[in-house]
Amino acid sequence: MLGYDTIYYRGEDDYHLFQLARQEGRMILTRNTKLVPKRSEDRILRVTEDKPLLQLRELFQKGHISLDQENLFSRCLLCNTTLNQISREEVEGKVPDFIFYQQKEFFQCPECRKIYWQGSHPEKMARRIDELKTSTKSQAPD
Ligand SMILES: [Zn+2]
Repeated sequence: MLGYDTIYYRGEDDYHLFQLARQEGRMILTRNTKLVPKRSEDRILRVTEDKPLLQLRELFQKGHISLDQENLFSRCLLCNTTLNQISREEVEGKVPDFIFYQQKEFFQCPECRKIYWQGSHPEKMARRIDELKTSTKSQAPD
């Protein structure tokens, strides 16, 4: 949602988790307090909250992430690939007519070919980001 390059590790093997993180230059984000770095290059970021929105707020408040308007929804929600802007002509017939006439800008995932437009992301997600912006703003010093 926020445009960060992220993957969810579903394996149970710590060795492979660290190996993958090193290979792809990733930081490991976890609530697991038993997971400790194996090498100096291993980077682990711990969150204490257990609800996703609170975890996001925690990362924001600790300064690990930022809400850059230009990065919001810049990646495919299905496969994490950065979206490309595509012309309206390329989209015609591939999205519902009313969307085609309503929208000016369209984006496509070069990997899975999914087409996005303003408002195509689930409303709940957009609302969550708004909530996050509001909640973090209200706690900022005057
Ligand atoms: Zn995709």
